Amino acid sequence: MLDMGMTIGGRQVAGQESFAVMNPATGEVIGNIANASLDDLDRAVNAAKAAYPAWSALPDADRQKVINTLADALEARAGDLAELLTRENGKPLGGIGSHFELGGAVVWTRSTAALDMPVKVLQDTDEGRIELHRKSLGVVGSILPWNWPVIIAIWHIMPALRAGNTVVVKPSPFTPLSTMLAVQIMNEILPAGVLNVVTSDDQSASIGAAMAQHPDIRKIVFTGSTATGEKVMQSAATTMKRLTLELGGNDAGIILPDVDPKAIAEGLFWGAFINTGQTCAAMKRMYVHEDIHDAVVEEFVNVAKNMPMGNGMDDGVLMGPLTTPFQHEKVAHLVEAAAQDGTVQMGGTSGDGQFHETTIVTDLADDHPLVTEEQFGPAVPVLRYRDVEDALERANASDAGLGGSIWTNDMDKAKSLALRMECGSVWINKHGALQPNAPFGGVKKSGLGVEFGDEGLMENTDIQVIHQ
Ligand code: NAD
Repeated sequence: MLDMGMTIGGRQVAGQESFAVMNPATGEVIGNIANASLDDLDRAVNAAKAAYPAWSALPDADRQKVINTLADALEARAGDLAELLTRENGKPLGGIGSHFELGGAVVWTRSTAALDMPVKVLQDTDEGRIELHRKSLGVVGSILPWNWPVIIAIWHIMPALRAGNTVVVKPSPFTPLSTMLAVQIMNEILPAGVLNVVTSDDQSASIGAAMAQHPDIRKIVFTGSTATGEKVMQSAATTMKRLTLELGGNDAGIILPDVDPKAIAEGLFWGAFINTGQTCAAMKRMYVHEDIHDAVVEEFVNVAKNMPMGNGMDDGVLMGPLTTPFQHEKVAHLVEAAAQDGTVQMGGTSGDGQFHETTIVTDLADDHPLVTEEQFGPAVPVLRYRDVEDALERANASDAGLGGSIWTNDMDKAKSLALRMECGSVWINKHGALQPNAPFGGVKKSGLGVEFGDEGLMENTDIQVIHQ
């Protein structure tokens, strides 16, 4: 059993109370960790504030060097971090699981270190010179979800640090351990106070809400549900915080009649079921042309049947449990309703504990909750269409606008349809592939702003224009 403290001002802090963290695959308690009070949060923000002047004054090249050292340290401890991640989140160690997530965290850290923040000269004429400078903000607050807790922490922390900010991070109460260990490892390198972590069960005090209101936090980067994102936006209003909000999705995939169902089946599977479907930009609705609908479903089921689900610590497992009891209940409820109103092609029942069978359902109406809501689990509806214009209209008929995909061999058609999808990223013949040089973010109710690349880095800065 792990007994972990918060990291505040470079020191381990126990907190007056603690809360338990469970392994979703076994139900056993794996850790007891500090439950922050509002005073603990103030201490963390004060530590970040005190560390800010020296960190922000470092030359760019020095901060880049430190961040590369962080990547080396995380890489050296990737095995420990991956194991902890599997035990608290449930995702498998192998496949597209914890080792994959840690590998991504290291790659993202190095590529964020390499980004530049040059001064932009807007005008240099006899009338005068105008320069656009990018300036760090101060203390950045990061609020994390439970589905990809390490890599999302890296997505929040690294650009903030690279730009010269200091950080207070709050993990999800369900998966705090791997983030806490990552912060401890990074604190062996960083000056005290540059990166702090506070943990909370969200029961006695909403530390997340207090961060969004905190007068000394200049920006919140939040990844989580749209419902909580709305609350963050409201709480942040009075201090006029900068916000990056990465929220829920209900991504559609449109599959055109010219594809080979067998050739795309594995891509469809991982597009929908990466991290057991608990991924913001997973394919959550599939629109398949009627000519190939049955063949696509058959091949999709064939692939899905061969993807073992179980305890992520066991060899060969590729799918895990739902990470939280609430999420398990939500998926079971949606699937129960779908089984009544549609045709279950595979799965359909809840397993032991927090496991749920991989489920593929056809013949649902467009207004069925499994189609309109973000299921965030191993269940996906496959819907028929005749005319691609109709499929596009149905795909766009959602408040969410995170990702989408087009599956076809006709690239021109794919691109013209992609441009008409109402979402932040569109993939062609794949779904959900993220990379550090391509900005990622949602439109409509899927969020505000982007992460990654120059555009993501700049969200950690204010613009100052010098007219001379
Ligand atoms: P959640 O909204 O329940 O919780 C996210 C975080 O917010 C947690 O740390 C929680 O403690 C904190 N929180 C709770 N109440 C708060 C409040 N009032 N103010 C501030 N913070 C508060 O989300 P979750 O269930 O952890 O994550 C799943 C959701 O995240 C899904 O909707 C998924 O699509 C979304 N997500 C989006 C992206 C993206 O990049 N767009 C990535 C991953 C997950």
